Amino acid sequence: MTRLENFISRMTAQRDILDQVCPEVAKMEGLVLELGLGNGRTFHHLRERLPGRRIVVFDRELGAHASSIPEAENLVLGEIRETAKRFIGIDAALVHADIGTGYEDRDAVTSTWLPDLIARLLRVGGIAVSGTPLDHPLLQRLPPPPSVPADRYFVCRRV
Ligand code: SAM
Repeated sequence: MTRLENFISRMTAQRDILDQVCPEVAKMEGLVLELGLGNGRTFHHLRERLPGRRIVVFDRELGAHASSIPEAENLVLGEIRETAKRFIGIDAALVHADIGTGYEDRDAVTSTWLPDLIARLLRVGGIAVSGTPLDHPLLQRLPPPPSVPADRYFVCRRV
């Protein structure tokens, strides 16, 4: 697969998975947390799919398109591993993490802390969507939509 094909496949997986989970999230109480604002495309998508829902967004720095910048009170800048700690116990309905780098060694380090952080951020029954694997006893893997190849993007429920 070329990097272009890989990118397209990741974008398609994000859209299809977020579209799959948002109707359920809409019926659940709780914040939505977007870990990794980047350009703001998935934040923009979540905002459209979950109108009125508070979405708190995390990144090291603000680099999003002007149309996709959250309100100041919903933007948390800094290292997610540290900044998201103060949200532990918040009972989020959805956590979406798009902080993979495409470098196996760096993503392996992320996998040492991200699953446990997400498990502590979510309410029971809440949903995690992530570009990197979420191996954790409290995160039960769910099947992605049929359009998403195995291990392309990960969907889990907090048990
Ligand atoms: N989903 C976004 C979109 O649709 O535009 C793209 C996210 S981009 C791939 C990943 C973002 O996560 C980058 O902006 C990067 O700065 C941020 N990021 C990655 N790891 C991080 C970390 N440990 N702490 C804070 N920000 C991080």
